[in-house]
Amino acid sequence: MLSIVATPIGNTKDITLRALEVLQACDGIFCEDTRVTGKLLQLLELPKKPLTSYHSHNQTKRIPEVLERLKNGEHLVLVSDAGTPGISDPGNLVVSAVQDAGLELEVLPGPSAMLAALSIAGLPIHRFTYLGFLPMKKGRKKMLTSIKDSPYPTCFFESVHRIEKCLSELGTLLIDEPERIVVVARELTKLHEEVIRTTAAELPLLAENIKKKGEFVVVVR
Ligand code: SAM
Repeated sequence: MLSIVATPIGNTKDITLRALEVLQACDGIFCEDTRVTGKLLQLLELPKKPLTSYHSHNQTKRIPEVLERLKNGEHLVLVSDAGTPGISDPGNLVVSAVQDAGLELEVLPGPSAMLAALSIAGLPIHRFTYLGFLPMKKGRKKMLTSIKDSPYPTCFFESVHRIEKCLSELGTLLIDEPERIVVVARELTKLHEEVIRTTAAELPLLAENIKKKGEFVVVVR
């Protein structure tokens, strides 16, 4: 079967007991970057496994190999560099191919930067919108506007290179709604974890002062 396995987003101790069992028992692992997953196995003191790269540029090419090996009875694992495969990460194509082929699948849930940020945001998250990464140029304005117009809290990923620009853009967009709440979650589960909860009115100041280091999730209410 193919096991879809979530891995830590920073703190190695967030690996689940089931993930440990499966990573130990499997015949091979399909991963975004073999160096990243090799290092994770080492940190978890797990045995070395055959690692095969499966990333956005080769995912279609890899599918026949995955199907062939599953048909031969191998137990394979799919992981991404960190967090839950398929959430702004490769995964959906191989998962749907395995489903279409009638082969066995299981999911081992675990860490996800999106869910971690939402749960620490302190906002009503009975319903929410998830936008993944905002487009860099084309469509960015439209997506930012959809955040303003959304009736639900909206969560998205932003890179260290664009976080300042993004917060400043949001500040301009929400200028007539200064009380809107914005949560910026940085380096979750890591040494320099930081969660900043502020209002739209404060965004120009935050844009200037935000520590431009690490990984970010933004939630806007
Ligand atoms: N599939 C992954 C998941 O479920 O967490 C997300 C993959 S996406 C390519 C990576 C983005 O997630 C980063 O650029 C950042 O925006 C966010 N991210 C990942 N780890 C994070 C962390 N520890 N703290 C804050 N954001 C994080």
